[in-house]
Amino acid sequence: MSGALRWVLGDQCSASLSSLSDLDPATDVVVMAEVLSECTYVKHHAKKIVLVLSAMRHFARALAARGVRVDYIRLDDPANTQTLRTELQRAVERHRPDRVVVTEAGEWRLMEDMRGWHEAVGLEVDIRDDTRFLCRHREFRAWARGTGKLAKVSLRMEFFYREMRRRYALLMDGDQPEGGRWNYDAENRKRLPAGVRAPPPPRFPPDAITQEVMALVAERFPDHFGAVDGFALPVTAQDAQRALDDFVETRLAQFGDWQDAMQVGEATLFHALVSTSINTGLLTPLAACEAAEAAYRAGAAPLNATEGFIRQILGWREFVRGMYWLKMPEFGKLNALEATRKLPWFYWSAETRMNCIHHAVADTREHAYAHHIQRLMITGNFALLAGLDPAEVDEWYLIVYADAYEWVEMPNVRGMALFADGGIVGSKPYASSGAYINRMSDYCQHCHYDVKEAVGERACPFNALYWDFMARHATRFAGNQRMALPLRTLERMDPARVQALRDRAAAFLAAMDAGELV
Ligand code: FAD
Ligand code: SF4
Repeated sequence: MSGALRWVLGDQCSASLSSLSDLDPATDVVVMAEVLSECTYVKHHAKKIVLVLSAMRHFARALAARGVRVDYIRLDDPANTQTLRTELQRAVERHRPDRVVVTEAGEWRLMEDMRGWHEAVGLEVDIRDDTRFLCRHREFRAWARGTGKLAKVSLRMEFFYREMRRRYALLMDGDQPEGGRWNYDAENRKRLPAGVRAPPPPRFPPDAITQEVMALVAERFPDHFGAVDGFALPVTAQDAQRALDDFVETRLAQFGDWQDAMQVGEATLFHALVSTSINTGLLTPLAACEAAEAAYRAGAAPLNATEGFIRQILGWREFVRGMYWLKMPEFGKLNALEATRKLPWFYWSAETRMNCIHHAVADTREHAYAHHIQRLMITGNFALLAGLDPAEVDEWYLIVYADAYEWVEMPNVRGMALFADGGIVGSKPYASSGAYINRMSDYCQHCHYDVKEAVGERACPFNALYWDFMARHATRFAGNQRMALPLRTLERMDPARVQALRDRAAAFLAAMDAGELV
């Protein structure tokens, strides 16, 4: 064969993929392989494996319908050698192409492997930029160094985001931000009023392809977290677009106001549920931003909601990806707060008297989804306060969410949630006591613990853990202006009170470490 072998990975199910841009159906072949090594490098949630394999099978079918020659290796193919590298070697032997074309991998471990593929197959391997992201690696690096076209004020998401807004002309009024401000986050922290219910998001019942994948995953990965039952995520570009349209029509207008709210029995609230589609390649980040802006321009969504949504994608998503590549592989070893405690079993079982954690973990197990504030302020906040080992927490987040890939998971977990990066991603730890959870949710109303108490057996554990965390790290945070307020409060506290709080925290953690029901 005198054409190119175009290798497409599981999270690259995009018609606009750079490795397919100059595909010639007359000479080229697209190869896709389902391999065990990718399904098991961590024990991914069963629904996440269904999502990726089903999206791959649908994408292969769509390519074939366009007249593209597709060589698709299934997981249960007896000849499958079950790693990407060895499957590429076999594919090269089968097709004898003159070169291999790929789009760069999203994760460090796979990119390292990919860099050696040319030696493994004895051919040129053309590794192309992933142009689905809105900021290229070299652009981000240049911004971080302060030498690029994107002006750098400080290495913070907010300044990066402003440059991205200008560059993509999203929500701009000439060269000024729409409405006069860049960020409307202060308006996006309301508690959900009693009786308000979010319109249920659309579900996408499994078709025959997905059902076949569900049976395969249930059989092959019975000991993975979560179950395939109830799978209803989009697995095609058409369904991903329907999910986005539904969000824009029915939930975007309220997305801002109640972005940080949490509610028992409302796993998704007004969130968009587009991360699985964007991260698998079914939807482009730009399309999501543009759809939100169009709704705003048509008067169908307020500015605080639209700006909030666009900031998450154009700002946070691109920023954490940039930071991941800027700091890897060191990022994966960072443990600035020297946290070493083992992950408690209730992160898997949901068996805890802490109602907030119980619901966050139970929702996660059922849907392979929890929204941002559950991830950050419930499971993340607890891990931060209790000093859980970042490596274990990282792995947990990578396993349990259907949208989890290391490039986005790690900066959010090690950086934003655990402050294990010492302040690379965020300028201060997102530590909070039970008061925040009580303000933003109804969890505390149905909890075994009393959120108003800080010491005593029935006191909310988050309260004592919060002050114990501040006391443990007081010296470390002394120079951080954003930590000045809690540290001053701690300083003014009666030492006997501080000791009582620390004793309560120690007793709670000891019981937790001993495997007691806490
Ligand atoms: P919405 O709340 O509706 O937001 C819209 C979109 O904005 C998301 O789909 C996502 O693409 C983007 N977005 C929002 N916040 C972030 C963020 N902090 N970083 C990157 N993109 C963001 N997101 C992942 O895609 N994969 C992960 O593995 C992941 N792990 C996380 C771990 C922790 C500890 C935290 C705090 C956040 C994590 N996030 C992760 C970010 C965010 O929580 C999810 O993107 C979001 O909950 C997905 O649901 P949604 O589509 O309904 O998002
Ligand atoms: Fe969580 Fe404490 Fe509220 Fe219980 S009282 S739900 S443990 S914050």
